[in-house]
Amino acid sequence: MGGIRALNMDVSFDRQHIWHPYTDMAHPDPVFPVVGAQGCLIELEDGRQLIDGMSSWWTAIHGYNHPQLNAALIQQADKMSHVMFGGLTHEPAIRLAQQLVDITDNTLQHVFFADSGSVAVEVALKMAAQLAFARGQTSKDKFVTFRKGYHGDTFGAMSVCDPIDGMHQAFAPLLNKHIFLDSPHSGFNRPLLDEDIQPFKDVLQRRHEEIIAVIFEPVVQNAGGMNIYAPEYLRQVRALCDQYQIPLIFDEIATGFGRTGKLFAYQHAGVAPDILCLGKALTGGMMTLSAVVCRSDVALGIESRFMHGPTYMANPLACAVASASIDLLHSYDWQSEIQRIEKQLCLGLEPCRVLTPVKDVRVLGSIGVVELHQSIDLNTLPSFFVEKGVWIRPFRNLIYLMPPYVINDEQLHVLCTAIQQAIEEVLC
Ligand SMILES: *Cc1c(COP(=O)(O)O)cnc(C)c1O
Repeated sequence: MGGIRALNMDVSFDRQHIWHPYTDMAHPDPVFPVVGAQGCLIELEDGRQLIDGMSSWWTAIHGYNHPQLNAALIQQADKMSHVMFGGLTHEPAIRLAQQLVDITDNTLQHVFFADSGSVAVEVALKMAAQLAFARGQTSKDKFVTFRKGYHGDTFGAMSVCDPIDGMHQAFAPLLNKHIFLDSPHSGFNRPLLDEDIQPFKDVLQRRHEEIIAVIFEPVVQNAGGMNIYAPEYLRQVRALCDQYQIPLIFDEIATGFGRTGKLFAYQHAGVAPDILCLGKALTGGMMTLSAVVCRSDVALGIESRFMHGPTYMANPLACAVASASIDLLHSYDWQSEIQRIEKQLCLGLEPCRVLTPVKDVRVLGSIGVVELHQSIDLNTLPSFFVEKGVWIRPFRNLIYLMPPYVINDEQLHVLCTAIQQAIEEVLC
């Protein structure tokens, strides 16, 4: 790996002064200093190379340090890194919006660029709210969602995250009370029974006058529990939302851009949302950017100014990199790669099923999940994985893999073996 190696990073300063995600400043989790990343490898300061099983929270789908993404960033930086989007526009935004309109459902025609996934969710919720108010439905003040969902860490997003996990526990008095239904039953191929959809049907029938919109993650619930469920849910929910004229928001921030084997997870069901949230892999893991894409009846139905406008809206660097990432995805047969990864994940993780601590093993596309009966100690397992030369970061009772699409079979084998060893050696 090229570049100048930063020697003796001051990790103690980090531990004393810098927050990491979801950490206690008084008792920080261990952190490993990184000096480079290339392809599917993360290089630590001490020279160890870790095979990446996380794609840096599911973003780096093409691997790290990709020459095409780097070139897009540098070329754009040479022209203009940023200008305000109020009253000005630019080619990177227009080109990316054209691509997003092209690759999403035909009905999705209008694009709002935001800075992060959480903000995209805020924007989607606000769009649906402004639409309802414009329609004179001023008594509406509820969103409907499923338990085990995760939509981000800002207030609006938190209020539709799973109601019993940490966010809600920490901020319960400040969160608006929305309507939570049991999460869809696990099983991609599970036939949907009438009773599965009945609670949703009942809620829409009884409370449709209160409901602004329905929001959830299609087919895979990610950070809220890695739950993979039947696409038939989407079809049934879509039909009921149509019946009651309630906008449907799909949060594809984690599932978009090929992760589940389709470009977007909603394509497993052949139905589209009214409002679609994109983020994470949008820039191929290079920088933060999100987008909300919606139907014309939503965008035009608001009938006034939509009240949101981030300072760095449609940042040209981020847009240029996102365009390059989408071009890259189109330049190779990513479907075959995902199928290959899916096969390897099934082969590699299935042996875990018989181990005592394991509750379930499930795989869809390039997502592999081992669910345990009990929560995992985040102070020991990451170090075990680093010793084995892999980067895997479990949460709660879930050990999962979401590797870059360019990972090879041998690397996948090492990742899967490390999980099996961790369960046998540390958790049994
Ligand atoms: C990660 C995630 C978000 C939040 O995105 P941030 O960029 O972290 O704000 C929202 N929804 C889903 C489904 C996610 O996976």
